[in-house]
Amino acid sequence: HKALMVRNSYLPAETKNGQRISVMGNIELPEEVVSLLDHGGDGIGLYRTEFQYLSRPDFPSENSLFENYKDVIDVMGHRPVTIRTLDINGDKAVNYIRDNQEPNPALGLRAIRYCLRKPDIFQTQLRAILRAAAYGNVRILLPLISGIEEVEQAFEQIDEAAETLEKQGVVYKRDIPVGVMIEVPSAAVTADILAEKADFFSIGTNDLIQYTLAIDRGNRHVAHLHQPLHPAILRLIKGTCDAAKANGIPTYMCGEMAAEPIFAPILLGLGVNELSMNPQTIPVVKNAIRSIDTTGIDGFMEEMMRLTTPNAIQDLLAHQFGSVV
Ligand code: PEP
Ligand code: MG
Repeated sequence: HKALMVRNSYLPAETKNGQRISVMGNIELPEEVVSLLDHGGDGIGLYRTEFQYLSRPDFPSENSLFENYKDVIDVMGHRPVTIRTLDINGDKAVNYIRDNQEPNPALGLRAIRYCLRKPDIFQTQLRAILRAAAYGNVRILLPLISGIEEVEQAFEQIDEAAETLEKQGVVYKRDIPVGVMIEVPSAAVTADILAEKADFFSIGTNDLIQYTLAIDRGNRHVAHLHQPLHPAILRLIKGTCDAAKANGIPTYMCGEMAAEPIFAPILLGLGVNELSMNPQTIPVVKNAIRSIDTTGIDGFMEEMMRLTTPNAIQDLLAHQFGSVV
């Protein structure tokens, strides 16, 4: 037991100068919570809820979704569980939806766009989430937001789900943080507007890089152009963090960029407050955070933000932090 306690992944992710950051896990299946806790995850930063829709012949019922979410919440106890609302279509196609033939699925009726177009399906999931929220520390996360009107409409849908549950006398919790994924360039650019409504941001770098640099995230021919350190990406992350800070809300990151230990100093320097990744990489990233010192990072970030190419940024990063992370 003692040996388990001293294993590094159970230590908090705290920099040498005492800056603490939560390192969370991304999951798709309820059973992945075991691995997440084994790897020292501080909570669930992204619960991708698509699987319950993809693995069956028809839309799941409110009760089956509720049971799934509650299973996860029960295991996580007081730790945060960030449930992302349905992000189907795009690269996650559901074969029992018959009207989803689109020439450009990544730019199509995906995620929040689909849910706002199909309020019945959205209501079923939102009711299941609000019911499960009564049993733990739940946050809701809205995917693929491109502007404030979608956020407002989603909030209306959440309120409607709560009102229905209230009328039916069902146990639920509405007073939970509702966050916005920053994964479309327009959302990052208007983060100051979104921050007035959102309780938190979570940056999805997989899609943010795809849409900003115009490269299909699944196309190996352009994989070399998938550059998290592109100045455009760093500027969008910085703008998002600055807007969040000005409005007193936190910024998290749940895209793959958060899983690279060498990027940890930059992300801390830009002001990201929490990182979430596939559970296997949690110990590595925690370790990296414990080995860095962020004293004077603001000056380093200023120098970094003046550089013009991903290569120059990578070199400076390796020069400054390469020996420790
Ligand atoms: C992302 O886009 O970075 C993200 C975390 O969401 P997904 O990979 O599920 O699209
Ligand atoms: Mg995404």
